[in-house]
Amino acid sequence: MIEVRDLRKEYGGFAAVEGSTFSVDSGEVFGVIGPNGAGKTTTLKAIAGLLEPTSGTVAINGEPADSRETRRRLGFLPEESPLYEEMSPRSYLRFFADLYDVPREVANQRIENTLDRLELAHRERALGDMSKGMKRKVAIARSLVNDPDVLVYDEPASGLDPLTTNYIIEFTKELAEEGRTVVFSAHNLYHVEEVCDRVAIMNEGKIVTKGPLSELRETYGETEYHVFTT
Ligand code: ATP
Repeated sequence: MIEVRDLRKEYGGFAAVEGSTFSVDSGEVFGVIGPNGAGKTTTLKAIAGLLEPTSGTVAINGEPADSRETRRRLGFLPEESPLYEEMSPRSYLRFFADLYDVPREVANQRIENTLDRLELAHRERALGDMSKGMKRKVAIARSLVNDPDVLVYDEPASGLDPLTTNYIIEFTKELAEEGRTVVFSAHNLYHVEEVCDRVAIMNEGKIVTKGPLSELRETYGETEYHVFTT
């Protein structure tokens, strides 16, 4: 489904990502884990077709990640989502559905369904007046307006209270159970274990190790494995 081959991205000669290779199967939840500056955002943006690799390739269903068709079927959640503060969640989501040319009837139904699932259906407040957790949920709803097959979520649960974090992890799991392929990043393995089929652990631009968490535990043991949990 997603094939990342020898991905390298340099910024002014500095390699933010160096030679990453991994694949993600259809319907899988794949975690990209690592501390600050590991190269997670750069990797995810390359998968979402939002930056051009210095070398290497990213393909989704055999098509380049930055092709128009691929991007139409992908939902990206940036680490910090810029929201239009004065809009209500509904008007904000309709605005994005229009950008994707989703027919009005389909969009309205999809938006109501998503707002309902995210417990936002009765929130008419402007986005600027909402809590951080609610704003994150609206950003997640926005990533679903085009009903994508592939979701790329950059630290979807970071900086949130434990309840909202759990909620978002569970919701991500449900999205994968619907058959969507999910790649998401996180600083640590806490929570990730509950949702990821496999992970790649990154540090300073390189993949240190990758595989199912159970195998990583066997190879590295509890101590090493939890080096990445802080
Ligand atoms: P964080 O958890 O802090 O978001 P990350 O793992 O997502 O970190 P990246 O944002 O991919 O890491 O950054 C990897 C490295 O590349 C960092 O050293 C960062 O400073 C650098 N970097 C990222 N974007 C740029 C840019 N546009 N110009 C220059 N350097 C950049």
